[in-house]
This record gives sequence, structure tokens and C-alpha cells, in this order.
Amino acid sequence: MDLYEHQARELFEEHGIPVPRAAVTGSSKEARGIARVLGGRVVVKAQVKTGGRGKAGGVKMAADPAAAELTARQILGMDIKGHTVRKVMLAEPVDIDSEFYVSYVLDRAAGTFLAIASAEGGMEIEEVAATRPEAVARIPVDPAEGVTSAKAAEIADAAALPPQTVDVLVRLWDVLVREDALLVEVNPLVRTKQGHILALDGKVTLDDNARFRQARWGADEVEHDDPLEAAAAAKGLNYVKLDGEVGIIGNGAGLVMSTLDVVAGCGARPANFLDIGGGASAQIMADGLSVILSDPAVKSVFVNVFGGITACDAVADGIVQALDAVQLTKPLVVRLDGNNAARGRTILDERAHPLVQQATTMDGAAARAAQLATAN
Ligand code: GDP
Ligand code: MN
Repeated sequence: MDLYEHQARELFEEHGIPVPRAAVTGSSKEARGIARVLGGRVVVKAQVKTGGRGKAGGVKMAADPAAAELTARQILGMDIKGHTVRKVMLAEPVDIDSEFYVSYVLDRAAGTFLAIASAEGGMEIEEVAATRPEAVARIPVDPAEGVTSAKAAEIADAAALPPQTVDVLVRLWDVLVREDALLVEVNPLVRTKQGHILALDGKVTLDDNARFRQARWGADEVEHDDPLEAAAAAKGLNYVKLDGEVGIIGNGAGLVMSTLDVVAGCGARPANFLDIGGGASAQIMADGLSVILSDPAVKSVFVNVFGGITACDAVADGIVQALDAVQLTKPLVVRLDGNNAARGRTILDERAHPLVQQATTMDGAAARAAQLATAN
């Protein structure tokens, strides 16, 4: 789970990383009052879980409290890369002398953490890495040793950051470890004209496996990019929106992943996928189908089930009951294999729904679903 900038800022502050004075609000009227408290002139910043807000017009300077209210009104409700701005953070502006980039990120491939740092901060690091790779230092961090003062000095030195950043680098590692984060990023970390080091913008990604002990961020803070993802999550289903035309329901993450590949191999693109897990009850099937069918991009649905602990006849019963509960509007291709497959197929044959067809192999079913989806 990603945190909002203001939440990242809060964590930085708790761990002793210097940040500008700031407050967050969803009301432009309140923004005026906050600006007054902060000294009049403020930076108004959209709170959305995506980068490049500055370029998108989501970071604006306001000269006085009245301008802060006006600017907040402009930014609130704005759409930034598909994210609606519901809150703005108002921060005391700083006189920037130089902007740096620092982050710690889990490097899964190398089985370690990586410190990434650059004296060319402010812009997106991918851009710097692409155009001037020598300006980006990448230093492995052994998770058992962490970032000591010596390690931090090595990172600062490699990226040509001023020595005053060493303390921030040590504390930032503390944020990563203590807050169960997979990524902590400060961009920009700035040196002000007065010579102070300040974290001006932050991103923190928490490890979802640690959510049970990070309850302070609350489940309602989880932001789904897609309303259907939110609806599915509310029903306890693992649903992911993609951008193709074949809806996919399968049982088990591995099977669902290979189903995506097989559908792509047949020349169609998955519109989404839904993992109904091990126990595919009728209710889960009905919920899953209704989610998949509500996606207007879906042209056909491929249900791919390998019966294991949950036998295929139980899954077929589930599909039949789902067909009574949900109005099927798009063709459904079902492939049942494994435990009690024959009985499952008979159940579906007997239901004889005009929009439901069966295939005995995964490849055959994928080809059929792809053909139906791309037919017109
Ligand atoms: P992002 O575009 O989402 O990364 O938003 P940032 O918070 O990083 O802001 C983008 C840029 O706006 C920064 O790199 C700074 O150059 C500038 N900026 C943000 N806050 C201030 C500030 O207080 N003073 C000044 N002078 N510039 C700021
Ligand atoms: Mn930034």
C-alpha cells in the first residue's frame, strides 16, 4: 500500500527527518486558515498516490491566505492521471538551493535492499537514470547491517550529496525498517539557501503483509484505481482490471496467471482477472461473475477451473446458481478439469444456457473465448 505524501511526511517527522511545516485539508476554506497559520505564503499540493503532480498542475505556490483558498479550490477535485484530488497539503515554502534524490527500495532480484541517490533530484529519477545514468548512484544495503553512519556517508559520497544528508539517510533507513516499508523515497531532498536539509516530497510503500501491525493507516485509506476493484475487494475477491476484452475467472493464482498467457497467445487480451481461490462456492461464483460482467470492456468470459479440493461438480453447481442470480449478457466459455470434471460438465450441459459453452482443454477454451471476444 502506498501512503499519501502527507502521511509519508508525518512518518519522516516522527523519525526526526526535517520537513517543512504543513497541514492537510479537504476544504478550501480551511486552506485559508492554514495558510494564515503557516505565515501567509504557502505551497498547495494535491494529495494523490501518483508522481509528477508538479507537472500536472497539482503543486502551486500561493502568495497569501486568500490565494491559498483559491488555489486549493482549483486543485481539489482535479484529476491527476486518473486520481481525483480529495485533499491538499499546505506547506511552508522554502528557498531551494539544490534538489537531491534519495530512496531505499527492496531489490527482489538481488535479494537485498538498494540505496538509490542522486544530486540531480526534483525531476523523475527514471528520467535522470535514462539520460545521465552516471548521475545516479546505486548501492546495495545489507538488510542485516542496515544504514549505519558509515554506510550513509558512502551513499552520500557516491552520489555527491552534501555531508549534511548523512543524518537523513540514516533516519530514512529507520523509517523503512520500523514502518514495514518496501520503498521510501524523498524527491526532492533539498538544501535550502539557508543551508538546511529538508525532505520536500516523500513516497512510502508499505508491505501489505505487515498491514495487521500498520493499522493506523486504516483500510479506508486503500485506494483502488478502478471502482470494480474496490467492489470486488469489498466482497473479498481478488480482482484486477486490465485493458483487454476477455474476462477471466480461475481458481488459484498460478492457474489464473497461465490463463492470462494462454489467452494472450490466442491473440486476445485479458480484460481483467479474478481468482476465486480454492473454495468456489455458488456465492463466490455469482459475485465473481457479476463483477466481471459489469466491466463494459468484457466481450467474452473464460472460466478456467481445475478441480482439486473443490470438485468440478460443486463449481458447476455454483455456475448454474450464478446464472440464476446474474443476468448473463456475454458469452461464457467454461473449462472444467480435474476432480469430478465429467459430472461438472454434465451439470452445465443439462442447464443448457444459450450463452454458455464448454471446452475440454485450456487451449481450446482460450481459443474459443478469444475468438468470441474479437469476432466483432
Ligand atoms: P511531484 O511533482 O509530485 O514530485 O511534487 P513535489 O512535491 O516533488 O514538487 C515538485 C517540485 O516543485 C519540486 O521539485 C520543487 O522544485 C518544487 N517545489 C515544491 N515545494 C517547493 C517549495 O516549497 N519551494 C520551492 N521553491 N519549490 C518547491
Ligand atoms: Mn517529487
